[in-house]
Amino acid sequence: MPDFDAIIIGTGQAGPSLAFRLAGAGMKVAVVERSLVGGTCVNTGCTPTKAMVASAYAARIARRAADYGVAIGGDVGVDMGRVKARKDAIVAASRDGLTSALENAANIALYRGHARFVSPQAVEIAGQRLSAARIFINVGGRAAAPPMPGVKETPYLTNSSMMDVDFLPRHLVIVGGSYIGLEFGQMYRRFGSEVTIIEMAPRLVRHEDEDVSAAIKDIVEQEGVHFRLNAECISFAKRGDEIVAKVDCAEGAPQVAGSHLLLAAGRRPNTDDLGLDKAGVRCDEHGYIVVDDQLQTTAPGVWALGDCNGKGAFTHTAYNDFEIVAANLLDHDPRGVSERINAYALYIDPPLGRVGMTMAQARSSGRRVLAGERPMTRVARAVEKGETQGFMRILVDGDSKEILGASLLGTGCDEAVHAILDLMYAKAPYTVLQCAMHIHPTVSELLPTLLGDLKPVG
Ligand SMILES: Cc1cc2nc3c(=O)[nH]c(=O)nc-3n(C[C@H](O)[C@H](O)[C@H](O)COP(=O)(O)OP(=O)(O)OC[C@H]3O[C@@H](n4cnc5c(N)ncnc54)[C@H](O)[C@@H]3O)c2cc1C
Repeated sequence: MPDFDAIIIGTGQAGPSLAFRLAGAGMKVAVVERSLVGGTCVNTGCTPTKAMVASAYAARIARRAADYGVAIGGDVGVDMGRVKARKDAIVAASRDGLTSALENAANIALYRGHARFVSPQAVEIAGQRLSAARIFINVGGRAAAPPMPGVKETPYLTNSSMMDVDFLPRHLVIVGGSYIGLEFGQMYRRFGSEVTIIEMAPRLVRHEDEDVSAAIKDIVEQEGVHFRLNAECISFAKRGDEIVAKVDCAEGAPQVAGSHLLLAAGRRPNTDDLGLDKAGVRCDEHGYIVVDDQLQTTAPGVWALGDCNGKGAFTHTAYNDFEIVAANLLDHDPRGVSERINAYALYIDPPLGRVGMTMAQARSSGRRVLAGERPMTRVARAVEKGETQGFMRILVDGDSKEILGASLLGTGCDEAVHAILDLMYAKAPYTVLQCAMHIHPTVSELLPTLLGDLKPVG
């Protein structure tokens, strides 16, 4: 049985970085991957979708060319084969670079296959056993097919199979009005598909504030995406060439017929086929591995990083997990998950940059909350770019003067939100940002202005 100092299962957004750190510290490391090196983010998540969002943006701007005084001279066409080829090239460069780095690194052995625990210190891959005193689980998650009637009998796409689509669906029906569904929905509408998004909740991205959800709906709806909210009793059937989704909504027709169905209604961790019971690693009722603040599981010598531990669902949270584990093991730095501040973006165009609390959360925290707000129509850079949809909101604790959170929906807001995020990490009062001189013309230059006009939240 080959002996290692460490085994890492999965090459998502934490595993490879951890492998390089451990190997650099002189440990003998085995890395196991059953599918594509780079995991979800590189192959079927962030990288390909953001490459496609960029193609969709180009189509949108081309169609709006006249607004900018630019003559295109004819209809704007989208070549889906070339959109896919561009996306594939970007993904392949990232995956191949990572694969070759792992294959060529000193002290790292890359195994291809499905790893399953046989004991707390050993895993099996296609009949071969590997053992190590430390095992790190970075197995990520996959799209969940909700148990809706007819789903098994109806062909459907997920974020993974969408990556092979090189044609324009006539009518894409998407179940799920959250991050993944909205990104694909707006993107395919811009490519030229008819798009209907079905959402069970009364509003989109229900974790956001109601006015943020409403503004996002307006933005996407204005481009011609149809929504069916409050959709209860969703079921599917195949009718000739069409897919029919039956919905029980408060308004509108009782069914939506489309050419293709995309399920974007949640994800589940890849923990059901890992033999975790053989290692004494406990999961919660949703299959997420239970970890402590330093990401150790219930089995000594076994850690869980990334989406599979339920502490985050983003590339940056998985990468931060790597940093926490490496800091504790190698740097004697007791970093913990509880130190991190919730932050993410929704990549519709314009994007939503989010950090910390929503208005609803701030209100229910019992603090004296102050808010600064501004529509993007009053941001010079947005006006100059011809992209004035959305609004910005920053929330402040009126007593401690610390920033509680921000929702920035507008052009450039996925970047601008970092000024706030960094200030929150510094635990500095908002007045530091208020007094900072910012560059003109940018979206960020308005953040001090928002903070100079804070109003009490009722
Ligand atoms: C459509 C989409 C868009 C997204 N966009 C963004 C975005 O813009 N920004 C962002 O921050 N996040 C985004 N995410 C989320 C992001 O992709 C994940 O949070 C991120 O990939 C973290 O994953 P991870 O490290 O936990 O594992 P993953 O990236 O899921 O990788 C896990 C790896 O483990 C392997 N594996 C699983 N089980 C085994 C086993 N038993 N043996 C061997 N190997 C195994 C898998 O094959 C996989 O390669 C997106 C997700 C999706 C689906």
